[in-house]
Amino acid sequence: MTNNNTYKYDVNSLKAEEFINHEEIIDTLGYADSNKDNLELVDAILDKAELLKGLTHREASVLLACEDKSRINRMFELAQKIKKDFYGNRIVMFAPLYLSNYCINGCVYCPYHLKNKHICRKKLTQEEIKAEVIALQDMGHKRLAIEAGEDPVNNPIEYILDSIKTIYSIKHKNGAIRRVNVNIAATTVENYRKLKDAGIGTYILFQETYHKESYEKLHPTGPKHDYAYHTEAMDRAMDGGIDDVGLGVLFGLELYRYELAGLLMHAEHLEAVHGVGPHTISVPRIKRADDIDPSAFDNGINDDIFAKICALIRISVPYTGMIISTRESQSVREKVLNLGVSQISGASRTSVGGYAEPETEEENSSQFDVSDNRTLDEVVNWLMRMGFIPSFCTACYREGRTGDRFMALCKSKQIQNCCHPNALLTLKEYLMDYASEDTKKLGEELISREINNIPNPKAKDVCINKLDLISEGQRDFRF
Ligand code: SF4
Ligand code: SF4
Repeated sequence: MTNNNTYKYDVNSLKAEEFINHEEIIDTLGYADSNKDNLELVDAILDKAELLKGLTHREASVLLACEDKSRINRMFELAQKIKKDFYGNRIVMFAPLYLSNYCINGCVYCPYHLKNKHICRKKLTQEEIKAEVIALQDMGHKRLAIEAGEDPVNNPIEYILDSIKTIYSIKHKNGAIRRVNVNIAATTVENYRKLKDAGIGTYILFQETYHKESYEKLHPTGPKHDYAYHTEAMDRAMDGGIDDVGLGVLFGLELYRYELAGLLMHAEHLEAVHGVGPHTISVPRIKRADDIDPSAFDNGINDDIFAKICALIRISVPYTGMIISTRESQSVREKVLNLGVSQISGASRTSVGGYAEPETEEENSSQFDVSDNRTLDEVVNWLMRMGFIPSFCTACYREGRTGDRFMALCKSKQIQNCCHPNALLTLKEYLMDYASEDTKKLGEELISREINNIPNPKAKDVCINKLDLISEGQRDFRF
């Protein structure tokens, strides 16, 4: 076992091994095991969660260990209630854009690892990025998450900054990318400041696993091997001025109970030190890819446990958005949408340059196999048929509502008067510019129904007026 005896748990510490403390997680799991049948405690934790105040990693771990069917049902009901009360029926859409798969790291679960000599290596030029962005805009996307491997020679920070500039500069027909989220390797405060100045939305970095010993084995070579540098990245990002950060673990690498405790400890740490918790949490599960076989990892979780984890994240950090990608199949996505997922990707390509021109099999450069291959129009149509409002909203970041300003708005409950009309306005733009006839018909019906669910009458009137202006050809309104 890792010798962590020199480290003591301290949520306020800036040392990775102290705010994600191994002994504390082991103690937490022991506490959860000894209390999993303590139904009085389980009920008290669920009562607390009803108040929308969130749960600590200890409390959530007790719920995760609890096997009582009626209590598990209550967890799911509560997650659904929070999702409905707070996020309503809106689902924000985004797409990943892979810029480069050159990488000097040795992550054993990712086909971009340095030793993979047969995967096709690609790095998009600015001209190719332009073509990708036009293809994404032609689908209707407004929000991207850019991804690149870690490679200071091929993918230096200047390349990432140039790419962001290119993406924001392209205005094709009525299209525009209005928010670029960035998922690149842990870096310095100075580089985070440059990303902030380039106008990024959320900085996303998956921890992969919070278990230090496993982390070091899973990342045997390259700069990512340094657990502390990686785990402390969000603190540096916040020091560099980025106040929307996105966490995530890759479920399947380590024991899921360990990971949930670590993830919530990380959220508690950010809140304690920076006054604002994570903006989003992603819940990827390990998937098949070029030279990666998920069965080689023995901590895989089934769909039921996955749903329980999603429900517990929802009730533990009610104000943190939850993201699910096309790694998951349509049926799994359907199950967790009601449990609190607030953002999904649509029509994703996980290869470098797959949007403008689909890849042939020989030139496969993808990071993982996609389980949901539908077009964006099909995903939008499917969401509406299930009663959700697909939203292309990017308003908060553009209105400067990030970090603690965003959280303050969330907690004031006034966000309903922003999110709901913004969802309708951006959906309307999508319907006018990109939707198929069937999707358009469904969407117009949905907008006429949902306009009545804007709580504030003044906001409702303004929204109706703006919807008319969009019909007349104007674009880009926001609350
Ligand atoms: S997970 Fe990221 S850092 Fe690791 S090999 Fe893949 S691209 Fe590189
Ligand atoms: S108003 Fe803000 S929180 Fe709501 S969907 Fe838009 S960007 Fe997200």
